[in-house]
Amino acid sequence: MVAEARRRAAEGHDVVRLDIGEPDLPTPAHIVEAGVAALRAGATRYVAPAGIPPLRAAIADVQRTRGVAATAEQVVVTSGAKPMLLYALLALVQRGDEVLVPDPGYPGYAAAARIAGARVRHYPLARDGAQFRLDVDALRAAVRERTRVLVLNTPQNPTGCVLDDHERLAIAELAEERDLWVVSDEIYDGLRYDDRAASSVAALPGMAARTVVVDGFSKTYAMTGWRLGYGVMPSSLVPAVTALVNESTTCAPAFVQHAGLAALTGPQDDAIAMRELFRARRDALVAGLRGVAGVRAEAPDGAFYVFADVAGLLRAGETCVALADRLLREHDVACIPGAAYGRRGEGMLRLAFTTSEERIREAVTRIRAGGQEGT
Ligand code: PLP
Repeated sequence: MVAEARRRAAEGHDVVRLDIGEPDLPTPAHIVEAGVAALRAGATRYVAPAGIPPLRAAIADVQRTRGVAATAEQVVVTSGAKPMLLYALLALVQRGDEVLVPDPGYPGYAAAARIAGARVRHYPLARDGAQFRLDVDALRAAVRERTRVLVLNTPQNPTGCVLDDHERLAIAELAEERDLWVVSDEIYDGLRYDDRAASSVAALPGMAARTVVVDGFSKTYAMTGWRLGYGVMPSSLVPAVTALVNESTTCAPAFVQHAGLAALTGPQDDAIAMRELFRARRDALVAGLRGVAGVRAEAPDGAFYVFADVAGLLRAGETCVALADRLLREHDVACIPGAAYGRRGEGMLRLAFTTSEERIREAVTRIRAGGQEGT
């Protein structure tokens, strides 16, 4: 869908892009300046595979704000959160072990688990109208003898749901009881709209010893192209994960790590302003979608996606993949079909509010036109 949207745009079509999961805003200037200054100062060589010490220390400090008592030595810096997900699973699973991933959920988890030689089992999220939440009973029922890792994502892509204290506690109990590792992808933590204090499952008693927190700079600081992320893990896992970095990329680029350090230790005003802009766009998109017959949409608590129920827009026999295709070809609005995130995503579309309010309103007008055509 993304490739087709790009192709049409390159051909001169005025495509409204709600497909891409990356901020449309520039990286804040002080972060860019720190990267440029680091280049000028000679940060052009290999550095330690686990990351430069001040960045590892700054990441450990951020973890403490989420209640996780981590030290710099427990941090491994990687070229994005995505490779960290893969390294964590490579370090944790043996061939034939099972990895639990959410449905609907980010497709990268299943891909990484398979590369690591694991079997993938999906745990269904519970659906209430157009909203999804963790279903603790369904999660418990999905655990098998060979289950080794549970992948969590909060705030979640594509549903935007955020785990609450009660859910985190239930996960911790289950992980303890069934001796599971937890890989907790918190890449959207800087984009929460619920105003609750940040908290990670790794902050619960005993959980830091069985959790890898995965995070990065792409979303909160609009740094997708810089490729910078990290994992925070028990000390016992650090040598294996560091060896995987060393044998694949050697290290994340030094000047990029200096830019990341500026992101974490510098002023947070730009990141906060971006979050507030996304909040306004979210509200505009949800309000617009609620005015379209056949669409049900809820405001997500985090991330920058509305996962909308579009079952009422489908023609007889039409899937959400075919609907997304039709909306792109006939109305030049690009979104991702829910089925791309798992079986429970059928009948849904993921709409990224990573474009201006004006373009969001235009997208809603076009989706409405697509719906009317179907009736
Ligand atoms: N995890 C989730 C849930 C994502 O949505 C994404 C990117 O879309 C990533 C991880 C990867 O982030 P990064 O750019 O840091 O590799």
